[in-house]
Amino acid sequence: MLFDSHTHLQFPQFDGDREGVISRLLSADIKVINVGTDLEDSKKAIELAKKYLGQMWATVGLHPNDAVGQNFDISKYKKLAENDSVVAIGECGLDYFRTPDDDKNRQKDIFLRQLELVRELSKPLMIHCRPKAEDDAYLDLFEILSARGESVLGGKYRNLNLKNGNGTSHFFAGSKKTAKQFLDLGFYISFAGPITFAKEYEEVVKYVPLDKILIETDAPFAAPAPHRGKRNEPTFVEFVARKIAEIKEVEFEEVARQTAENAKKLFNLDF
Ligand SMILES: [Zn+2]
Repeated sequence: MLFDSHTHLQFPQFDGDREGVISRLLSADIKVINVGTDLEDSKKAIELAKKYLGQMWATVGLHPNDAVGQNFDISKYKKLAENDSVVAIGECGLDYFRTPDDDKNRQKDIFLRQLELVRELSKPLMIHCRPKAEDDAYLDLFEILSARGESVLGGKYRNLNLKNGNGTSHFFAGSKKTAKQFLDLGFYISFAGPITFAKEYEEVVKYVPLDKILIETDAPFAAPAPHRGKRNEPTFVEFVARKIAEIKEVEFEEVARQTAENAKKLFNLDF
């Protein structure tokens, strides 16, 4: 059994052959979390999860890049997120890669409002964070996450009181130092397809202890080698697990078992 902790099977890229993709996933015994990126998309993720109870779960959130021109109506998101199939809030966070500088404050504001949901609903946080230069987006994110009980954004938000360690950093693309900061906060680190072909991940994969690692595809995006450039799908999560086993010099089965166990613990799942 493998656990793909971050995928988007509800996306239109799967409209043509979703059943086929799902039947491959079921026969390979892969469990997944379908991650919502805005309100409508989160609804679709929940609908899909409800069809495959025990095999699929969902998250509710507004992605920083999808937040452009969208209102964040917290009451609508909250109502959705109360659903039993919803195991985390996100993906949400900061994406400076394609973002003009004057958009940063708006991203921070929408992220903070989703942190309120994390606190109110006591569900874990699924972070999307993509830097432009060095670790810039990660640094701003830590400033927000570590502001427990202090005012952030000019006093607009106080007393976030997030539970320590209740979250994961999806598609981790930061430095070893950034990984350490997440680990110090008690967060999990999730690795995706690029670790199979980009050598610069080796050091950080080696560094993060196996009991703090999640694996993911982020399908339909970022397929791992040997499927690079094609549409990604949850069965390819195996290649991420195999690369971690190779880098850490442990058995593939151990990586599969431990990463599924980590997901079970973080997202409070029954399987
Ligand atoms: Zn994603």
